[in-house]
Amino acid sequence: VPVVAVVGRPNVGKSTLVNRIIGRRQAVVEDKPGVTRDRVPYDAQWSGRRFTVVDTGGWEPDAKDRAAAIAAQAEIAVQTADVVIFVVDAMVGATDVDEKAVRMLRRSSKPVILVANKADNQNIENETVSLWGLGLGEPFPLSALHGRNAGDLLDKILAAMPPAPGIIEDGPRGPRRVALVGRPNVGKSSLLNRLAREERAVVDSVAGTTVDPVDSLVEMDGEVWQFVDTAGLRKRVSHASGTEYYASLRTAGAVEAAEVGVVLLDSSEVISEQDQRVLTSVVEAGRALVIAFNKWDLVDEDRRIYLDKEIDRELKRIPWALRVNISAKTGRAVDKLAPALRKALASWEKRIPTGALNQWLTALTQATPHPVRGGRAPRIMFATQAGVAPPRFVLFTTGPLDAGYQRFIERKLREEFGFEGSPIEVSVRPRK
Ligand code: GDP
Repeated sequence: VPVVAVVGRPNVGKSTLVNRIIGRRQAVVEDKPGVTRDRVPYDAQWSGRRFTVVDTGGWEPDAKDRAAAIAAQAEIAVQTADVVIFVVDAMVGATDVDEKAVRMLRRSSKPVILVANKADNQNIENETVSLWGLGLGEPFPLSALHGRNAGDLLDKILAAMPPAPGIIEDGPRGPRRVALVGRPNVGKSSLLNRLAREERAVVDSVAGTTVDPVDSLVEMDGEVWQFVDTAGLRKRVSHASGTEYYASLRTAGAVEAAEVGVVLLDSSEVISEQDQRVLTSVVEAGRALVIAFNKWDLVDEDRRIYLDKEIDRELKRIPWALRVNISAKTGRAVDKLAPALRKALASWEKRIPTGALNQWLTALTQATPHPVRGGRAPRIMFATQAGVAPPRFVLFTTGPLDAGYQRFIERKLREEFGFEGSPIEVSVRPRK
């Protein structure tokens, strides 16, 4: 999600502008010198594009030197934003205080939109041409309070953003795509055959979708699911003909084509290196994950106790994976598969509102700040969810974080918001 930062002296109308952009009247604490505002980012949307707006007004609240404070805002904005909005008061024009920030913005490679706010009427608007002199391009006259030119400004902000990735978030979509993977003999074809028999193999293609002939459509729990790249499974190709190398290529291809991986393990045997590689291929591809312990009919009390220990040891790195204990042979708990897949996919596509994310983060970092190293500790300024499928988070910080502290944040993020069945990614964008 692109980040738009709003920079400017106190009282030029930054919060009014932020409220105008996010489309609600709230938290309009106008910037009086000395009033600390939360530097909370807000979710915004215009013409179907989502982005994050950051009001930089709350930074450096105790800086005595106003020019230095504005310059610090600009610096943070330049480091962290995709688009910078520099706000000046149309009635006042640019002041000495703005100079330092303007120089920095001019040098930066970030797109800067110069907004002349409080241009409530045409006369004031006509005056704004003098702001060309700042060297930040064409001044954009706006009345944030009355909404004058606000729509045009939003169009301009959108045009300045990096191009949207080609992900269509809405609209009808075909069946969920599932990769059924696992080492030879864990029971993949047995499970697919059972699903096709018991549930119902959907022979015809589903309206509006094109299904690859190597895929299988199966109805489970009232929904059609697309099991990708199952041609080999249906034909029961001899395992002897496939070396592990080719098996792993098939796994990688299926996982790539899928949204969620079902990794089949043989509950009657130890979790092997090869099983681990299959699990890794799903996790590293960033797909949702359900582990199906197959051949559960063979698990007796002794094996159960041993298996629990094995799971603790071998699956420690993926405690978030969803697990079902099934038997393709007897049909035990096979109906648990569809609910687990749905849950994993919901986590995979979950979006945390920016406000809630940052409220949580502020409380967490206050309770457990980053450890001090060499007299200093980096601060996390704010976080934003950059994407879904899988959920990806970006932490904007004053410096690099310790690996241990970053893992702590990740763990707490999961504790707070869930994400069962999905990998998540957390990355750090330090301001130099
Ligand atoms: P694939 O190589 O993963 O496709 O595995 P197959 O489906 O060919 O199964 C390998 C062997 O395990 C076959 O002999 C199956 O009959 C057997 N098998 C599969 N699922 C189960 C199960 O749930 N319980 C038991 N006891 N055997 C199973």
